[in-house]
Amino acid sequence: MTTHAVDVAIVGAGTSGCYAAATIADAGYDVVIAERKDEEEAGHIACGDALKGASDFPSAIPKSQIEPAFTNTDVDHGRFEIPQLDTAVDIPVPGELAVIDRWEYGRRLIDGATDAGAEIHYNTVVKDVVQNGKVEGLEAVRKGDPVEYEADLVIDAAGALSILQDKVDFSDSTFDTNVTYSQFCSAYREIVTVDEPVDWSDALVFKPTERAAGYLWYFPRTETEINVGLGFQMTEEPMQLVEDLKEDLRERPEFEGATVDDKLGAALPTRRPYDSAVAPGYVAIGDAAGHVNPTTGGGIAGAAYAGQYAGEATIEALEHDDVSEQRLWEYNERVMDHFGARYAALDVYNIFTTATDVDDLMGLLAALPVKKLSEALYEGSTSVGPWLKLKTAAKSFGHWETIYDLYRTKSIADELLAHYEQYPSNPDQFDRWRSQRDDLMERVYDVTGADPKY
Ligand SMILES: Cc1cc2nc3c(=O)[nH]c(=O)nc-3n(C[C@H](O)[C@H](O)[C@H](O)COP(=O)(O)OP(=O)(O)OC[C@H]3O[C@@H](n4cnc5c(N)ncnc54)[C@H](O)[C@@H]3O)c2cc1C
Repeated sequence: MTTHAVDVAIVGAGTSGCYAAATIADAGYDVVIAERKDEEEAGHIACGDALKGASDFPSAIPKSQIEPAFTNTDVDHGRFEIPQLDTAVDIPVPGELAVIDRWEYGRRLIDGATDAGAEIHYNTVVKDVVQNGKVEGLEAVRKGDPVEYEADLVIDAAGALSILQDKVDFSDSTFDTNVTYSQFCSAYREIVTVDEPVDWSDALVFKPTERAAGYLWYFPRTETEINVGLGFQMTEEPMQLVEDLKEDLRERPEFEGATVDDKLGAALPTRRPYDSAVAPGYVAIGDAAGHVNPTTGGGIAGAAYAGQYAGEATIEALEHDDVSEQRLWEYNERVMDHFGARYAALDVYNIFTTATDVDDLMGLLAALPVKKLSEALYEGSTSVGPWLKLKTAAKSFGHWETIYDLYRTKSIADELLAHYEQYPSNPDQFDRWRSQRDDLMERVYDVTGADPKY
């Protein structure tokens, strides 16, 4: 058995783990990332490769270091195909947007973490935690040999459905354990090379799957290299992801004779962020804490910021020799304040779409003002007044009932956003806050007719 004694042990060298490691190493602490993949494969992550908002990413890994992986910076809007109406709606995407070579980006993040002073232990599969009233380390296996990490604090950056959360005893903590697979999306993507440049290389193309709870995407890494994929919410009957993708590709003339260079699939959380992602000696970040925009599936930005906030909370905890929930709590607050509240409000629209007929939704999408849709998708809120303008109402004839349900859903989503903006500054007030939030969610299920998601 090999034993490593470190200040901080992080599980997973993805986006969140690398930003957390760089932040903590910058402050001079000993930090190790245990990564199950080998050095070559690390950073190879199933992803649509769309990156939003990188200009403001945490500075622990300089943007100049990751920028060479941005292969297409000409994308500036989403194109929503509506097959039912044989049309497409172009919706501007606010903020900086790029499609990236995800593997190259992943490697560059790992370089960023090591440049800051973090160590990466490859081929190291974490199996369990060491705990004694608080988490004190990890048990892992490296190439068949047992390895143990003794650490003041463990950061779980192991991605969606992290196995660590089956191991930690959360019974005396606020950590969110209301997590089930149906709150996740199952997704699959291929990297495809076509002969001729596509004429939509400035757009992220989306198309609904036949069931409302999923979509196909076509994201141009370059004019001839396209990330194509699809996903569905796991409340639904499983889709044949590979077959369904093939079928859609066959119908698109621009993909005739295309070659597939890479295939990967994974689960991603399309749910609200964890109510609390801390326990004594333990912090979860990124996908391991549900930090994904549940309407778009974009999780890279949330992972990067969560990594920074957890890193800074960890430094505070180490400086005070105190890894209690109380000391780590500010991390929860910063996540909710920056993006968590918005993602929780967006989750309400996700619940609405899973309970609404896809034809109705598509008719509505075609009828609504584009700017309002953009706000609703990315900001979690938009003013509803203009939706009721006569022009919209006339165009959307036949979908008025859905519009009314959406209007009622939206007003609860706004109340929810306001409630998340009051996220408690202390774990003592957490139970009360959560019970009020749960009351708001009951109203969401009432209005949408959806089965309770949580
Ligand atoms: C198909 C698909 C498409 C997506 N498209 C987009 C997109 O276009 N844009 C976007 O912003 N987001 C997208 N996402 C989401 C995005 O990829 C994630 O939100 C993001 O990668 C989360 O980063 P992370 O660091 O939390 O986890 P991950 O990137 O998943 O990293 C987790 C790391 O932990 C390691 N690990 C796991 N378990 C163990 C263990 N037991 N021991 C040791 N190591 C372990 C893994 O090998 C991995 O390296 C997509 C996700 C999927 C599945």
